[in-house]
Amino acid sequence: MKIKFWGTRGSIPVPGSKTIQFGGNTSCVQIISDGDFIILDAGTGIRELGNDLLQKYSCRDIHLLVTHTHWDHIQGLPFFRPLYSEKCKLKIYSENKFGYSVAKVFETQWDPNYFPVTAEIFNDKVEYIKISDLEAMDINGFKVTYIETHHSAGTLAYRIEKDGKSVVYMTDNELNYNAKNNLPTTDEILNNNKDQIDFIQNADVLIHDSMYQIEDYGDKIGWGHSNNYSSAIFATLGNVKKLLLFHYDPDYTDDKIKNIVRETKVFIDELNSPVLCEAAYDGMEIDI
Ligand SMILES: [Zn+2]
Ligand SMILES: [Zn+2]
Repeated sequence: MKIKFWGTRGSIPVPGSKTIQFGGNTSCVQIISDGDFIILDAGTGIRELGNDLLQKYSCRDIHLLVTHTHWDHIQGLPFFRPLYSEKCKLKIYSENKFGYSVAKVFETQWDPNYFPVTAEIFNDKVEYIKISDLEAMDINGFKVTYIETHHSAGTLAYRIEKDGKSVVYMTDNELNYNAKNNLPTTDEILNNNKDQIDFIQNADVLIHDSMYQIEDYGDKIGWGHSNNYSSAIFATLGNVKKLLLFHYDPDYTDDKIKNIVRETKVFIDELNSPVLCEAAYDGMEIDI
């Protein structure tokens, strides 16, 4: 199984000279195995992925799992060129807790106030699937399970398994602990995030929301995102092999993210944890 990162930034795209190494595209990840693939989220990174797919494949059914529909997870979709190719079909899996159908939420992107193409042209090409209507998901041979995160209502994390390998994609998740005066402790993360710890158990790779460096987190408590220290403890409690930091604050420069990785590795050592840690970046590919 291979993971390819097309967008790793949180909130808003941030191109520019300070984000060259880690990239500025918002969330989009591709999981690939034996020529089949699943797409996770449709942030601005999905534009380049679409171009890549049109070069590599003669088109097919494409499966897109969306964690939630905040801008940074859907904003690239109108620029996903396979949508406009005659032979491609797209299945969009999502959840929604705000009273609209999944179709209505996505089709709003093609309202003429926002985009010159209208949604009707996709009527026979796009299928919208509400995740909670499904019993289980077997997509192109990938076993997919999900859990709700600590974020806006209906935000999901996905666990994808194939051939004995597993990846958890858990972006936009604020690990709960009493953060007012304290650094996170193992006990606090354990006691307040039990279901999620069970969900990530023994994963080969955990891609996790690490939007903030610990020193910046105090002003952002309750915003729905985690820090690098809580992510490290969480990964340790989940017995995952590798933690990939993901969904960086848009104000974070390459230098800042490099500093966060260094700091996180030191913290993991202090925990006596065997978890490996890297920072995901746009264009990163890893085999597991
Ligand atoms: Zn986000
Ligand atoms: Zn969000």
